Amino acid sequence: MSLPDKFGHFGEFGGKYVPETLMAVLEELETTFTKARHDKKFKDEFAHYLKEYAGRPTNLYLAKRLSSHFKHLKVYLKREDLLHTGAHKINNTLGQIILAKRMGKTRIIAETGAGQHGVATATAAALFGLKCEIYMGEEDIHRQSLNVFRMKLMGAKVVPVTSGSKTLKDAMNEAIRDWVTNVNDTFYIIGSVAGPHPYPLMVREFQSVIGLEARKQFVMKEKKLPDYLVACVGGGSNAMGLFHAFFNDKKVKIVGVEAAGHGLASGQHSAAVCAGETGVLHGSKSKLLQTADGQIKIAHSIAAGLDYPGVGPEHSYYKSIGRADYIGVTDKEAIEGLKLLSQSEGIIPALETSHAIGYLSKLDAKVKGKASVIVCLSGRGDKDVNTMKDLI
Ligand SMILES: *Cc1c(COP(=O)(O)O)cnc(C)c1O
Repeated sequence: MSLPDKFGHFGEFGGKYVPETLMAVLEELETTFTKARHDKKFKDEFAHYLKEYAGRPTNLYLAKRLSSHFKHLKVYLKREDLLHTGAHKINNTLGQIILAKRMGKTRIIAETGAGQHGVATATAAALFGLKCEIYMGEEDIHRQSLNVFRMKLMGAKVVPVTSGSKTLKDAMNEAIRDWVTNVNDTFYIIGSVAGPHPYPLMVREFQSVIGLEARKQFVMKEKKLPDYLVACVGGGSNAMGLFHAFFNDKKVKIVGVEAAGHGLASGQHSAAVCAGETGVLHGSKSKLLQTADGQIKIAHSIAAGLDYPGVGPEHSYYKSIGRADYIGVTDKEAIEGLKLLSQSEGIIPALETSHAIGYLSKLDAKVKGKASVIVCLSGRGDKDVNTMKDLI
């Protein structure tokens, strides 16, 4: 069975919890996407930009010196950090902007936390000559001034959001508000496998190139399938991008790594699958961090891209059927991962990605015999060096 169903449900999760004014535009988007998905012209155009502009396929790199730090693991890195703009996010923004153009939209909006999705959206908008406005929490604007400057340099307008905690979830609220008022000419590019149907499906589809490539590359090199897949989970798009192609390979074990911040017991974390409850946020039903009376809790992670109180509905579904395990890695463990990869391979990962690396020592302690692992190296660490300087 291929999910979601036609209402956007992955088991009990997903759906479309939006104001009436957005129902028509979501249906229009769904119709356009469904057609495009099977249309050779769309597929060719998307593939063209992924290859010629973003730099696909990315390498599947055997990290020998990193592996030698572990007793049981042979680690391959899927190098999404080598893409244009430095992370997997560009896969999705290119896909959505081609759809926007097909729908005749002239204005692009997006939300951003760390600024990576904002940068990837501003990049795609500049490439296609479309007007672009990025909603960003005031707190994040201060923390990520370099990315704000990059967006402006590419011609995007950055709109400061001063409501709530002045971070990602508030930026997403404002972007949805803008969309409701400007649906006629505006396309909203969501940055992860979250939001109302068809976004979780659409973003998964655009990111699934990660897993399709990795599966083929691994089989070429090893003549078998990997034992484990590991990826960090914020909203969950780089993880779902890797996992999806292996869903039916039941022997391949799947691990999503969430940000445990100061520890799950501290309450200061972003681990929605590990420690959240079912609820509705930003248009879909999924696991999320909320108080007993349903107010959204403030998430915490050292990595701004993981600092989100919800998670894409398909991850909640994977968890509910036992297809994947979700594990928390703390800020401290992520920093260990960051140092380990930088010093063993000369690859400085993003703080988000460092959570996936930080998990490997836990996995090594659990595994018996030898196990091969593909880690999604979702992004490079250049954007984080200022934060890192205060941590290391
Ligand atoms: C945004 C980001 C993430 C988190 O987003 P997902 O949708 O969970 O993939 C992870 N890694 C990097 C490098 C990012 O920029």
